Amino acid sequence: MEAPNLLPKSPKSSSPSCSSMENLSIQFQENDETGRTFETIDPRTEEVIANIAEGDKEDVDLAVKAARFAFDHGPWPRMSGSERGRIMMKFVDLVQENLEELVALDAIDAGKVFEQAKAGEMPFAASILRYYAGAADKIHGKTMKMANQLQGYTLHEPIGVVGHIIPWNFPAGMFFFKTSPAMAAGCTMVVKPAEQTPLSALYCAHLAKLAGIPDGVINVITGFGTTAGAAISSHMDIDCLSFTGSTEVGRVVMQAAATSNLKAVSLELGGKSPLIIFNDADVDSTVNLTLLGGFANKGEFCVCSSRIFVQEGIYEEFITKLARNAKGINVGDPFDPSTHQGPQVDKQQYEKVLSYIEHGKRQGATLLTGGKPWEKKGYYIEPTIFTNVTDDMLIATDEIFGPVICVFKFKTVEEAITRANSTRYGLAAGIATKDLNIANTVSRSLHAGTVWINCYLAFDADVPYGGYKGSGFGREFGMEGLYKYLQVKSVVTPVHNSPWL
Ligand code: NAD
Repeated sequence: MEAPNLLPKSPKSSSPSCSSMENLSIQFQENDETGRTFETIDPRTEEVIANIAEGDKEDVDLAVKAARFAFDHGPWPRMSGSERGRIMMKFVDLVQENLEELVALDAIDAGKVFEQAKAGEMPFAASILRYYAGAADKIHGKTMKMANQLQGYTLHEPIGVVGHIIPWNFPAGMFFFKTSPAMAAGCTMVVKPAEQTPLSALYCAHLAKLAGIPDGVINVITGFGTTAGAAISSHMDIDCLSFTGSTEVGRVVMQAAATSNLKAVSLELGGKSPLIIFNDADVDSTVNLTLLGGFANKGEFCVCSSRIFVQEGIYEEFITKLARNAKGINVGDPFDPSTHQGPQVDKQQYEKVLSYIEHGKRQGATLLTGGKPWEKKGYYIEPTIFTNVTDDMLIATDEIFGPVICVFKFKTVEEAITRANSTRYGLAAGIATKDLNIANTVSRSLHAGTVWINCYLAFDADVPYGGYKGSGFGREFGMEGLYKYLQVKSVVTPVHNSPWL
């Protein structure tokens, strides 16, 4: 497939003239205080795509100043919800018009399969933006009739300046998951994409400007976690921190938030999600469900079903068919329409996944499929399935964040629940059964923020999503995803004949 033209398309109405990605990056470099840059690498070729401005504490300070000014004096928090929604809808139109460009950037920068992201992730990201554009004029408080002839009412006010720190696995998607509800609430924000995948966030910021989002509302800082990220989480003038990333870094940013200005925090963290398949499930469809849940986005998916529990009655048939179908997964260039799985995001992640695979082999698990790099060049890894895995092996306990799944055999419903819950994570879980009673019992017993019954990775803008236990707290999507960007103010006043008067 030919590399797409990366020039943003202008909206039909009059708007600021648009610049090329090259100009954009120069513009961002000029804004960088230190003048330092870092390389972003193409995981298909291991070659440098571009040099990106390396934002540091000074740049974060400038971005926060811009966001604070826009919050305290700018039009965004002051305009009506319907006006914010109207501008956000224009942003949706631009995302749709520039969908291929956004997807291409993530294919080059993150190894995302172009056709999959074009059909799935980016339309979903646009649907999130559209959902919150529609929600912007539906933010209401309530009125309370109090004792002593007092009347109370609540105002839902934007929380202020938000710091968004995002990971590399869904760069463009995550930009919208984070910024859309905060925009709808009337907040202003500083966004830090992951250092591995900075490109699409810059493009999104450019589209935001074209859409008419006022200056200072969205400020993108490219840079590293321990510098730019740390400056955001510890900043005294950021009111709320929304972090998505690993559980380890989640702990660090929460600590920084607590020891700085005690900013509100929400954490979307890692997972080691179970998929439990019962004897009565249809084997062919659950094999496909397993491959989808385990290998979507090359396993770089926080909700990946990386622990597959199969009841003993169908176990042998299941693993035979699983091995056969897994061999049909095409690993290859993300722009090739026949590719199902692209390269891992970078060298570090690639080596981490391969070292887990080696660990699994050394600890005595059986390799059912895969287990090797796929090409000499690029960060490709074969879809890898282990059987004969014990619950305490590292491949069974750790989030690998790559195309590696473990299959376990179980006997009873109770055993499946106990083993599925024996993890420090609690992001998602899946159940495959035709038995309503089992589905109800197990879904209520699992410690996970999302439970999919006879489906997997079924997301919707209206369905809240987030973690239990070490997978974090706070919810994204749905109206729950908006409330965390609002403060509730209670106002109380005496009315006629009140003893207060
Ligand atoms: P990561 O925690 O290493 O990095 C995430 C972000 O945090 C990056 O922008 C990084 O620069 C920044 N960061 C790193 N150190 C920091 C510090 N000391 N202070 C402030 N910011 C810092 O995670 P990753 O490797 O980019 O992403 C993979 C992880 O993200 C996995 O654990 C995955 O499960 C998780 N994830 C969770 C969800 C979810 O919704 N629950 C979604 C996607 C990814």
